[in-house]
This record gives sequence, structure tokens and C-alpha cells, in this order.
Amino acid sequence: MFSKQLIDYTEKTFKEETITIRTKTMVKKVTDKYIEAESTGPDGKKTLEKIPYGLLVWATGNALRPVVKDLMSQIPAQKESRRGLAVNEYLVVKGTENIWAVGDCAIANYAPTAQVASQEGAFLARLFNQMAKTEEIESALSLLSDEQDKAKNGPDRDAVFGEIKELQKRLRRVKQMGPFEYSHQGSLAYIGSEKAVADISWLTGNFASGGQLTYLFWRSAYLSMCFSTRNRVLVIVDWIKAKMFGRDVSRE
Ligand SMILES: Cc1cc2nc3c(=O)[nH]c(=O)nc-3n(C[C@H](O)[C@H](O)[C@H](O)COP(=O)(O)OP(=O)(O)OC[C@H]3O[C@@H](n4cnc5c(N)ncnc54)[C@H](O)[C@@H]3O)c2cc1C
Repeated sequence: MFSKQLIDYTEKTFKEETITIRTKTMVKKVTDKYIEAESTGPDGKKTLEKIPYGLLVWATGNALRPVVKDLMSQIPAQKESRRGLAVNEYLVVKGTENIWAVGDCAIANYAPTAQVASQEGAFLARLFNQMAKTEEIESALSLLSDEQDKAKNGPDRDAVFGEIKELQKRLRRVKQMGPFEYSHQGSLAYIGSEKAVADISWLTGNFASGGQLTYLFWRSAYLSMCFSTRNRVLVIVDWIKAKMFGRDVSRE
């Protein structure tokens, strides 16, 4: 997600922290003493390597929740989907008519990030409001068309006809909702050692930076996105506690 410049900066920072990154490397086997990894070289040649370890932390992503897996198994159109519920551009689960999915459980060609999840949530809220309004207008229209049938010729009938025309105009406006489109606002990541990297969309271009100032920016962005003052205060207190006493890992 980040620019080449920020990737290089992050790799350099990791090197300084003696963190080794192995790209194009797949873990094939784990024993109690070593990890067996297969790496692909620039020429495409694969080599198998045994990496001894003391403590192994496995962090290669999230598995599907049983509830999502169960739903997928009941929809034939989801047979080919592996990572989650495949959805169309209106976030409708493919193979269904009235099931929507948003966030990490939905596969819509976007990265599983909080930014995507929150925009999808807002889109779905708008879509449901639109559907409710459509339903309301359509039932009003059906009542009016009954009234129009019963009304005798003359002013009564014209008045009902006028109302129908007005409602039809409203219905067209309400139904004009386009599909979901993700708008990327930028990426921020903490990279350790009180440093962060940021790639922010700025007017028509991009603003990329990395370092300790970016870390302060990352923290201020984090605080500004908290939902309540209570949360903001709790987060600040947590940071101060971690700074003074180190990170509390007793519950993790
Ligand atoms: C370590 C880590 C770092 C990340 N960093 C970033 C980042 O920097 N920026 C970014 O944009 N994204 C980041 N993400 C991704 C981001 O957290 C997710 O994309 C986002 O939280 C997805 O939101 P969601 O609502 O779809 O799912 P979640 O936030 O996972 O919410 C799902 C909720 O459903 C609940 N639930 C599950 N099953 C059931 C059930 N059967 N009944 C009731 N409740 C249930 C869960 O408890 C959970 O609260 C990160 C993720 C991880 C794991």
C-alpha cells in the first residue's frame, strides 16, 4: 500500500533494529526446533531452508469465522470463494438477494482494512435508507393509483394525477444511488522505535513521510478518530502508562 520511498525507509529502520525481512518466502513446515521455508529467488529458482528458532510467533492473517464459513457453505455461488463472502458492487452477497456483507468478511476487491470497512458501513446505511424511502413512496403511489381509478373526471382526478407525478419524480431521485466506490484517504503505519510512515492523499497528489514527526502525526490522527472524549482520554492514559512502565502484556 505504501510508496517505494516509504518501503525503503521502513526496511532501513528494521535493519537498524536487527529485524530481518524475508520476502517471497513461504513457511512449509514447523517443527519444535526449526522452520522450513521455501524462498523464490529473482531467477524463479526455489530453495528450501531450515531456520532454527527459540520463540515462534505465527501472525499470517485471520481465518474465516465459523458463522461466515457456515453461510458460505449454504450458497452454491460462493463455492469458489476462499477468503470470505464474495459480494457485488452494491455489497449484496453473490448468489443471494437480501444478504449484504461489509468489512473483513466481504470480498469486494479491496484490502481488508478498517478504512474500507467503515466506508462500506456508511454506504450500506445510505442504501438501506434509500430502500426504505423507495418502499414508502411505492406504497403511497399504489394507494394514489387506486384513488385515481375511483376519482371521477375533473379536478379531483387532476389533483391525484399531480400528486402521482410529484411522487414519481421523488422516486427517480431516490433510486439514483450508484454502486459502492472506495475512496482511499491514505495509509499510516507504526514501524517501531517511535517512528511511523504516512502516505496521505493530498489535493490531487500524495504526501509521503516517515520518522518521529510522522509518529506524532500518527498519534494525533489516532486520537482524532476516537469516537468519544472518554475513549480519547483512555488512549492518552494508556500511552502515558506504557511510556512510564512499558507495555502491559499480562492480558495479551
Ligand atoms: C493486527 C491488525 C492490525 C490492523 N491494522 C490496521 C490499520 O492500521 N489500518 C486499517 O485500516 N486496518 C487495520 N487492520 C484491519 C482492521 O482491523 C479490519 O479491517 C477491521 O477491523 C474490519 O472491521 P470489521 O467490522 O469487518 O470486523 P471486526 O473489526 O473484526 O469486527 C467483527 C466483530 O464481530 C464480532 N463477532 C464475530 N463473530 C461473532 C458472532 N458469531 N456473534 C457476534 N459477534 C461476532 C467480533 O468479536 C468483532 O467484534 C488491522 C487488523 C489487524 C488484525
